[in-house]
Amino acid sequence: MPLRPQRPCRAQGCRSLHRNSNGYCDGHAEVAVEQAKAWATRKGSGRGGRPWRRLRDRVMKRDQYLCRCDECIRLDRIREAHEVDHIVALALGGTDEPANLRAINRDCHKEKTQRESKSIKK
Ligand SMILES: [Zn+2]
Ligand SMILES: [Zn+2]
Repeated sequence: MPLRPQRPCRAQGCRSLHRNSNGYCDGHAEVAVEQAKAWATRKGSGRGGRPWRRLRDRVMKRDQYLCRCDECIRLDRIREAHEVDHIVALALGGTDEPANLRAINRDCHKEKTQRESKSIKK
């Protein structure tokens, strides 16, 4: 299995290299979580705001209103998208950048959320 390229940690002054999707080395994993939390509170609930809606439209258009979830990509399945999903969850240090967003079908999203909550419990 090819490994992802190592990236420098995003924490200030830290030069550690890592392969974490949250952008921080293992030693700074907590910083990543704190940052995500700070971001969420700074933006308030945010989700219903206009900038988010604009971003959402942009992502939907980019993905041609089709679901881009892992399953659909893997199976070459075509499903209509209803929502925009964070590839890396905000709680894990993901951002609202278009690169971290994809259009997703409502049912796919539900399945994904269920899978995620199961894997957390385990
Ligand atoms: Zn670090
Ligand atoms: Zn899908």
